[in-house]
Amino acid sequence: MFISFEGIDGSGKSTQARRLAQSLREGGAEVVLTREPGGSPGAEEIRKLLVEGGGERWSPETELLLFTAARRDHVERLIRPALARKATVITDRFADSSRVYQGLARAENRLLVEDLHRLVIGIEPDLTFVIDIAPDISLARGTLRGGAEDRFESLGLEFQQRLRRGFLDLAAELPDRLRIIDGSGTEDEVAARVLAALP
Ligand code: ATP
Ligand code: C5P
Repeated sequence: MFISFEGIDGSGKSTQARRLAQSLREGGAEVVLTREPGGSPGAEEIRKLLVEGGGERWSPETELLLFTAARRDHVERLIRPALARKATVITDRFADSSRVYQGLARAENRLLVEDLHRLVIGIEPDLTFVIDIAPDISLARGTLRGGAEDRFESLGLEFQQRLRRGFLDLAAELPDRLRIIDGSGTEDEVAARVLAALP
């Protein structure tokens, strides 16, 4: 099974991806926990190009190509082999992040995102959890985290609100695959909501 976690910056995706991986492992499953951008050595190299060097380093289209190249390597080297041996793959972000960030929030490029996805990626998760949270809460959490890789997050509240709307609209568009999870409350409360939404 292939599961992705999506949502705005600091929504709690990484935390919940890790928690779900732990729960499924306790049940005896082989779980590969991974993330984007990155997840394979080559894609982690591309991640550095994306997160270092300031928000204006790449045009929106070049940025999309870099995210797509990273995803292709991630899929080829890690995700497909893991699924082929029947492992469960849990990824912190996948193509829906590109649909929303590169396709909608940074520029109006949704068709280009879909075309590239069809041409060079070609797989979708079986199930996607959208961790939904008000941007002011997630931004406060992001600040608390104090991560170094926050050039995108520095874009602020209005950008995060556009992202939130984008993820909610995508969930309405693809209700069979995307499940909206209320990301407010404690980590335990959110983790319980994720488990309850598993098929
Ligand atoms: P990013 O997209 O920026 O990588 P994320 O969506 O993966 O972020 P996390 O890294 O899981 O989010 O969480 C961001 C911060 O919020 C972390 O410091 C984490 O410990 C904290 N956090 C996560 N979930 C909760 C929660 N339910 N309540 C309070 N703090 C939380
Ligand atoms: O989720 P994570 O914090 O690891 O992502 C790194 C940065 O890349 C974030 O600031 C996020 O906003 C950005 N990003 C993006 N487009 C994607 C995925 C992530 O702009 N498709």
